[in-house]
Amino acid sequence: MSNFDSYGFPPSISKELHKLGFVKPTPIQAQAIPVALSGRDMMGMAQTGTGKTAAFALPMLIRLMSHPQQTALVLAPTRELAMQIHAFVKQLSGKNINLHSALLIGGASMHNQTRELRQRPRILIATPGRLVDHLRSQPKLLQNAGILVLDEADRMLDMGFLPQLKVILRNLPKVRQTMMFSATFPNAIKNLAAQFLNKPAEVAVGEPSRPVQKIEQAIIETTQKGKNDILLDELNARQGPVLIFTRTKHRTDRLSRYLESYGYNVTRIHGNRTQAQRRNAIEGFRSGEFRILVATDIAARGLDIDGIAHVINYDLPQVPEDYIHRIGRTARNGKAGQALCLLTPEDRGMWKAISRLN
Ligand code: AMP
Repeated sequence: MSNFDSYGFPPSISKELHKLGFVKPTPIQAQAIPVALSGRDMMGMAQTGTGKTAAFALPMLIRLMSHPQQTALVLAPTRELAMQIHAFVKQLSGKNINLHSALLIGGASMHNQTRELRQRPRILIATPGRLVDHLRSQPKLLQNAGILVLDEADRMLDMGFLPQLKVILRNLPKVRQTMMFSATFPNAIKNLAAQFLNKPAEVAVGEPSRPVQKIEQAIIETTQKGKNDILLDELNARQGPVLIFTRTKHRTDRLSRYLESYGYNVTRIHGNRTQAQRRNAIEGFRSGEFRILVATDIAARGLDIDGIAHVINYDLPQVPEDYIHRIGRTARNGKAGQALCLLTPEDRGMWKAISRLN
């Protein structure tokens, strides 16, 4: 695979890539960037941690630089993912390029976002619900959108965002470039692609819905009652940061209190926590202040934290595909990682479904 240097990117972009330490494109980037630069619609099947953000962000920035009238819209299912994309885009667009971007997510002040929109940002990074809120008062917000990116489209459908996506689609220009990324490719995603994309080129890395190779997976069979003891043993036997998934907000709270009572540095995220609490939890986990993060699926989606050594599935997910997303939080960026599942007899059916994907 050739280096980014041979891509002929504008110098300002090359400089920022260099600063980030990106030398060679990842496989999804090598496939997607030339297609995206050609202006074609694209359907990308990419696992977590593959570098898909840069795969769409680089061509998007380059197109915006050469089309000064156009804007771009990036949709993501969760606030955390939107924030991560925003941080990445801001870093890449740096000071030299001067492409202003705005983050439109729930849980943050509508008023501040409206004020930001007055500065006419060229890039909007949004969660679907909040964008629809803004469209109510600013129906022309998307009139110049020449690029649309749907990131983690499967997750957007799982979270019930289809009605909002349809409203957004009605507000977008018909002529535009659309790039859609999804880790899985069920029929619902094919239908969505048929509505949003026009003769898309398909790019894929590895088999769809399969975990990243470097993850070592293990199971321990136990009972509901036995889970806590096993978890303590496993936490003591392992080194490094641990992300633990539970099924519900309540179980997340309860488990993190339990671990706290044993003296662990633990924090937690789930959908009922405020934006500030979620941010503090993630930043505290990222910085090492907390060794353990307990989370529900919704809150942990899209987390990009380097160096998560272990993912422990205290409970199995409700949908088999979420297992792939969960364990994809470790072994990011080419590093190794371990995933452990605590399985109870009631989990048998779900574990079978997961094993079929795996
Ligand atoms: P993503 O799948 O977009 O969340 O990216 C996963 C991680 O890989 C992020 O931490 C990126 O900063 C990093 N990354 C993406 N592309 C490259 C590249 N070409 N070289 C090195 N690191 C990369």
